[in-house]
Amino acid sequence: MTETVAEAAEAEGGDMPALTDGIHLVVDALKLNRVETIYGVVGIPITDLARLAQASGIRYIGFRHESDAAHAAAAAGFLTQRAGICLTVSAPGFLNGLVGLANATTNCFPMVQISGSSERHIVDLQRGDYEEMDQLAVARQLCKAAYRVSRAEDIGRGIARAIRTAASGRPGGVYLDIPAAVLGEIIDKDKGEKSLWEVVDPAPKQIPDAAALDRAIELLAGAQRPLIVLGKGAAYARADHAIRQFVESSGIPYVPMSMAKGLLPDDHPQSAATARSLALKQADVVLLVGARLNWLLAHGDAPQWNPDAKFIQVDIAANEMDSNQPIAAPLVGDIGSVMDALLERTKPGQIAAPSAWREALGERSAANVAKMAKRLDAAKTAQPMKFLGALQAIRDVLAEHPDVYLVNEGANALDLTRNTIPMSVPRHRLDSGTWGVMGIGMGYAIAAAVETGQPVVAIEGDSAFGFSAMEAEVIARYDLPVITLVLNNSGVYRGDEASPSGDPAPTYLRARHDILMQAFGGTGYQATTPDQVGEMLRKALAEGRPALIDCIIDPADGTESGNIQHLNPKGLNAKQ
Ligand code: ADP
Repeated sequence: MTETVAEAAEAEGGDMPALTDGIHLVVDALKLNRVETIYGVVGIPITDLARLAQASGIRYIGFRHESDAAHAAAAAGFLTQRAGICLTVSAPGFLNGLVGLANATTNCFPMVQISGSSERHIVDLQRGDYEEMDQLAVARQLCKAAYRVSRAEDIGRGIARAIRTAASGRPGGVYLDIPAAVLGEIIDKDKGEKSLWEVVDPAPKQIPDAAALDRAIELLAGAQRPLIVLGKGAAYARADHAIRQFVESSGIPYVPMSMAKGLLPDDHPQSAATARSLALKQADVVLLVGARLNWLLAHGDAPQWNPDAKFIQVDIAANEMDSNQPIAAPLVGDIGSVMDALLERTKPGQIAAPSAWREALGERSAANVAKMAKRLDAAKTAQPMKFLGALQAIRDVLAEHPDVYLVNEGANALDLTRNTIPMSVPRHRLDSGTWGVMGIGMGYAIAAAVETGQPVVAIEGDSAFGFSAMEAEVIARYDLPVITLVLNNSGVYRGDEASPSGDPAPTYLRARHDILMQAFGGTGYQATTPDQVGEMLRKALAEGRPALIDCIIDPADGTESGNIQHLNPKGLNAKQ
């Protein structure tokens, strides 16, 4: 900014003229659109913007690294159905934020990354400006849409467009570029105010066609082995009641994807989660609700799936249909409207899952649960502590706190937590998601605490935690009720690999995470037995303050790449 509004007033003859500037317009536009929180990292040229936002009643959460702020904005979008806002500085800060922006887009979470940028007339001629970068061009390929505001009078339009694009249709990340000169541009206040508007109905309903519904109902009615797959799109859609009613009235078994856990409680009698492979292999008609047939579902291919299965897909994105398998009955619309319409058009008793199918899944489930029980039992008292020893202790405490939000990332820490810790409330599990990305942990945990006001427990592999560990300081600084459990087996995958050189093995790590938390003013615990894990977690939840429990796990416990080892290249040096 070359002059403040007051200086401009002075220059115009002393009387305070009615003026505003780009920064005020950004804040006013965000407030008008009911933005309550901004996640960001300050610096040139957006520090005053953060200050003004805070002074105007928007909560500003200041992070240590932009990718964590962007992940937080994405999680806020998932939890609220409104675009989460991330604020970054130019070039390097902007680039850091892109990981979160791209990850949000991949996961279909609505967010907007607003970034300051350098002077256009210098950047475009590559004259070497401070933090010079053509940010708009870079961002474009990494998000749902990228826009630039080139005049202060277009700030309201830019923000409305970004919010609308992020939340409507298939949600995703939007980049909004605002050069420093536009943030500092002074314009007539009245003109500025008139240039702002509130987006009406950011994500309008999309009602499915009657013929498309009947096609789907007919397929389900004729199925011998029907299956419902619930994905995180179903969790996002907040159609909990209709989904539950459809599942229960049809009697169809269902499999929840990891972030859809809790949409129906995991102990629901129709859950086929513990008979997943049999369910996929044998289902003849599959209803996908907010779940893509991507790598997480083996692309719908045999041998994991029945090659003759017919797919019905409920999704807001028409071009998701046929992306992997022929979709026999596409149901394009928002999940709430589609599930309501399915319930309305299905005649009583028309869809009923055959009992032989339900029993077959039930039997497989019981056998798998018994097998798992043996593994769990063996881990209970094992010393040094195993992942499953610590996780059972955590599970028992969390059973007393169903409202706790659970954030989870890692390799083994992710796989084993997902299978050990049941969820009973919708949208309470946030994890590595579609990319299986590491580094979302603290950003997601902070957003969950800020957006919901509820306690959050983050279960982190030690490697995964390292990506966002510095944000433990943010948790302590804002005194958020986040308890982090680091399942610390001293390594990526495991910590016992011998090194062929004088340096540590590539997978080896070493840290006392409890001391890190203490350094920031939170409570740090170290636990070496499941009993200690349970006691410390119970205490931390009762206190409701920032805490970290470093759970010391046997370095020999852990599988290379968790349960996705098959994705590693099978070269000459393949480990397994
Ligand atoms: P998972 O990883 O849990 O299987 P995905 O992220 O693959 O879930 O799938 C989520 C799907 O949900 C996406 O294809 C997205 O377009 C869709 N989706 C998101 N929100 C809605 C909504 N409100 N209505 C319909 N579909 C939605």
